[in-house]
Amino acid sequence: MKRRSFISKIAIAGSLPTLIPKSLFAQDKASPLIDGPVAVCTWNFEKANATAGQALLEGKDALTAAILAAQVEEENEDNSTVGFGGTPDRDGKVTLDACVMDHNGNCGAVLAVENVVHVAALARDVMEKTPHVMLAGKGAEKFARSLDYPETQLLTPKTKKAWEKWKKEALFQPIINIENHDTIGVLCRDKAGNISGACSTSGLGYKMNGRIGDSPIIGSGLYIDNEIGGAVATGMGEEVVKTVGSFLIVELMRQGKTPQEACDEAIKRILKKQAGKPNFQVAYIALDKKGNVGARSIHQGFSYMHFNNNINQNIKVEPI
Ligand code: ASP
Repeated sequence: MKRRSFISKIAIAGSLPTLIPKSLFAQDKASPLIDGPVAVCTWNFEKANATAGQALLEGKDALTAAILAAQVEEENEDNSTVGFGGTPDRDGKVTLDACVMDHNGNCGAVLAVENVVHVAALARDVMEKTPHVMLAGKGAEKFARSLDYPETQLLTPKTKKAWEKWKKEALFQPIINIENHDTIGVLCRDKAGNISGACSTSGLGYKMNGRIGDSPIIGSGLYIDNEIGGAVATGMGEEVVKTVGSFLIVELMRQGKTPQEACDEAIKRILKKQAGKPNFQVAYIALDKKGNVGARSIHQGFSYMHFNNNINQNIKVEPI
């Protein structure tokens, strides 16, 4: 995927800024109170974030808006790291991971699911329609079929060709570069001031069959505490899991750090265990209850989308 750095502004007609009552905020820091719905998502997924922003302005709840954003990329064949057209594992199977978390602390996740495009919505169904939090593999797929999710071959001619090329020189340990990662992680704050989020990915390209990263793991790829805020991760999932990155960020915000300070600290925790700058990317975005946003990455090249006040813009992130 080509990353362009751009600023795009979209005007959404007929929407009014919404005032979030100050009493909703547990934190009483000097950071400003941002009015109106806020949506942020990883990378330059402009249309996805605009979709979330529009949904929030129409009065949809934060979880619904976050899932609608994830669906844009799940359906996007040109995005080779999420949903349909995602990069397969080394056996040629496209296996998807996703999770969601709402403002009540409810969560749901699906792991290593094949033949289903809308895995963030499926994670919501796990949360709302089963007594469980996580469903994996064939069980998750069976659950999707019971709810009439269409059966879709996720491997496209393009990704099949790329996999066949990769196989010729396949290394047991793939060389990680930052272009292997482009999970969509979305955080939304709705008109009621509630925060929810969603995360969806096909995971690390050419991973071992059965490998699970951070993205469907609550606390790693995504965490929400509606009193405080939320965080999402993208990049080398193994490193995010080792530090329970998204939970860590929310807890740091609870202790009084700003979203930016919390993201910085979470990246530093990863780097502490490395000798020098590692050959992998990890990036975080955090959103607090007041609507303030922070983000940090290990390497150059990460950006995120930010929607507020009818403006959807791409923000380039300075690496640590
Ligand atoms: N975090 C994802 C994983 O490790 C990959 C990514 O963000 O692209 O599965």
